Amino acid sequence: MPPSASPASALLHADGIVAGYGTMQVLWGVDLDVRPGETVLLLGANGAGKTTFLKTLVGLIEARQGHIVLGGEEVTRTRSSDRMRRGMTYMSELAVFPDLSIEENIRIGAQALGHANPNARLDELYGLFPVLREKRRDAASSLSGGQRKMLGIAKALAAEPKLLVLDEPSAGLSPLFVKEVIRVLAGLRDRGLALLVAEQNIGFLEIATRVFVLEGGRIRFSGTVAEMTDNEALRRAYFGLK
Ligand code: ATP
Repeated sequence: MPPSASPASALLHADGIVAGYGTMQVLWGVDLDVRPGETVLLLGANGAGKTTFLKTLVGLIEARQGHIVLGGEEVTRTRSSDRMRRGMTYMSELAVFPDLSIEENIRIGAQALGHANPNARLDELYGLFPVLREKRRDAASSLSGGQRKMLGIAKALAAEPKLLVLDEPSAGLSPLFVKEVIRVLAGLRDRGLALLVAEQNIGFLEIATRVFVLEGGRIRFSGTVAEMTDNEALRRAYFGLK
């Protein structure tokens, strides 16, 4: 396994993260780092602890042990709004407020920027997602599953992150829309945005620089996509190949 990047060179560095719910421990000392502009895939089955880990990173669940360093500053005990201002935004599985309009959703995403008039940003985002411009006054609930996911991404991008953290962007989508989400994320990666994507869908390996495999709340593997596919046990477990 390659050593994880030092906190100085990493955009995000998590070290020895322990977290859980009440008496139930879910994460048992998880290490992960994301370098500027890199796409990292956190792969794991249902219940492996992916959501718990992402929520701990972004400050929605408290780390019981370990350290989180973002842009060289320790943020382990800071609020999630602070981490957002420092450039890390989170797209949960649900991602949008269904009763609000598309534009209201995006404006909420932009609030972390602290300037009252995010119109320029709105224009830029509508350029990326033209379908959202057409429907901007409609309720988010009127969008298809795939379009809602695009709105979730637009809402997260409205805060102008350096690192976008996405929880299972493929959840609930047909294979065709999963491909579309992968295409959109590849476009964001090509514009220099760092991505941390938690998934169980190995289709996302296509856009990843490095992979971390989470099993039972522990990192079982970290390395490049090529290193992962060279590992026979992982190949069998995740690709169904011999
Ligand atoms: P999924 O793909 O199903 O979301 P995951 O890898 O994201 O899986 P988590 O959602 O982090 O996994 O769940 C890890 C463990 O923590 C599971 O055993 C789950 O039942 C438990 N868990 C998750 N949320 C809570 C909660 N709010 N209270 C108690 N236990 C929880």
